Amino acid sequence: MSNTTAPVPTSAPAATGGKRNSEPFKSPILHEVGLPMDPDNLYLQTVDVMLTAAEMIGVPHNIQLILAQPKNEIMVHFPVRMDDGSFQLFKGYRVQHNNAMGPYKGGIRYHPHVHLDDVKSLALLMTMKTALTRLPFGGGKGGVKCDPRRLSRGELERVTRRFCAAISHAIGPDYDIPAPDVGTNAQVMAWFADTYESLTDSNRSSWDAMRVVTGKPVEIGGSLGREKATGQGVVDVLVEMLPELGIKVDGMKFSLIGYGNVGSWTGRILAKLGAKMVAVMDHTGAIRNDGGIDTEALAAHVAQTGGVAGFDKNAPATGTGNGKAAGATAISTEEFYKTPVDVLIPAALEQMIKAQEASWIAAKVVAEGANAPSTPAGDRILSERGIEIIPAILANAGGVTVSYFEWVQNKACTSWSEEQVDRELNRIMVAAAHRTNKARREFKCDMRTAAYIAALQQITKVYEVRGIFP
Ligand code: NAD
Repeated sequence: MSNTTAPVPTSAPAATGGKRNSEPFKSPILHEVGLPMDPDNLYLQTVDVMLTAAEMIGVPHNIQLILAQPKNEIMVHFPVRMDDGSFQLFKGYRVQHNNAMGPYKGGIRYHPHVHLDDVKSLALLMTMKTALTRLPFGGGKGGVKCDPRRLSRGELERVTRRFCAAISHAIGPDYDIPAPDVGTNAQVMAWFADTYESLTDSNRSSWDAMRVVTGKPVEIGGSLGREKATGQGVVDVLVEMLPELGIKVDGMKFSLIGYGNVGSWTGRILAKLGAKMVAVMDHTGAIRNDGGIDTEALAAHVAQTGGVAGFDKNAPATGTGNGKAAGATAISTEEFYKTPVDVLIPAALEQMIKAQEASWIAAKVVAEGANAPSTPAGDRILSERGIEIIPAILANAGGVTVSYFEWVQNKACTSWSEEQVDRELNRIMVAAAHRTNKARREFKCDMRTAAYIAALQQITKVYEVRGIFP
């Protein structure tokens, strides 16, 4: 591998072996790599959690240094012709955090607030996720600063094709494999794959070039079960971990932030297992019904209108989503967080749960469907209040796991049944949950630190056997 940081002496294992560092941002590595000490910075927050766990298990200093910064940060600007004939310049990113364990892997986000430090954080989280699940991938992430809701279908396609062209030299089916994330979907992946395939040497292996992205439509090599995979993985982890925390899935109450891909699938699958969705909030508003919100009817409403707002007024119950749709009440953000539930599942954007929101939350468990949904201050308050956090690198690893299955199916020119996908996904999620629990018992730490420890144990072993080039 070509991360060329000079080896330096191994740092001593932390003597405490206990809780997560209550004083954040203390690792000398943060200063060594020169990260700005802005406590609101998402990258600083993410890398700090990783370094705290690394210190607890004595990850060698040189490996900590390598992991503290991404290997490559690619930033591009590209013009796109809009429907009215004008040109707009877009900014895109692809961050390749680490590829010691395999090709870079991670989603592409379209959102107006996409920012380099956020993409770096998400890429680091991907490295941790693939290591925790023991998938043969590294971590990457990308994004385009745009509002996909304000683009026409034609504009969205042209943005996607130009972005793909702009980064095509830096990605590849065995080098860096993007996937969907917030604001992108299977259709966007189809345009992306088609563009990449058109730009590569199509005489030799044109179809194989489509492996450059996962999350594709099934017609062009997508996997059955990929669309619901992240939600299914959240549920697999909850089913495995909640009994130990004294909660039965059948009959439990839950709430969701976000009713997009991850949120709606998590809600719908949990409802099938007998759990009751009592509150949902998204970018359009929040709703509550203590008798249970019909998860299928809400998904249909969101598909039609773009958000949960208005569901209180006009939604007929489908009878399939384990709740009575009619009668949900529009509530404020504060009321949403204060709604008593067994499990709150953030499945929207990063850093939504700040100190204030954390003090409002009335849940026993927060299961992170979204990446980094809380700030360090929010996280600390949840911990102090005794609320268990099932961390994102475990809870939402189902997406990258089924992306891996898609990549394997494409390589083998075969397709698996949905039952096979679900069965294999469950096996990997349960194994990752067990690794986390084992590290938690061994190091007597919180679940987030334990998941990072279980991931870092794997990365450290890989670096030990591979060595560092030259
Ligand atoms: P999505 O675009 O399908 O849905 C995003 C949801 O967030 C929408 O319901 C939207 O209304 C909501 N939202 C946006 N701004 C909000 C706000 N200010 N307040 C409340 N809600 C708001 O995205 P997704 O794919 O479901 O991703 C959600 C999260 O899950 C992200 O953190 C993403 O990185 C993570 N994730 C996604 C996948 C995947 O396979 N899609 C895999 C792993 C992790």
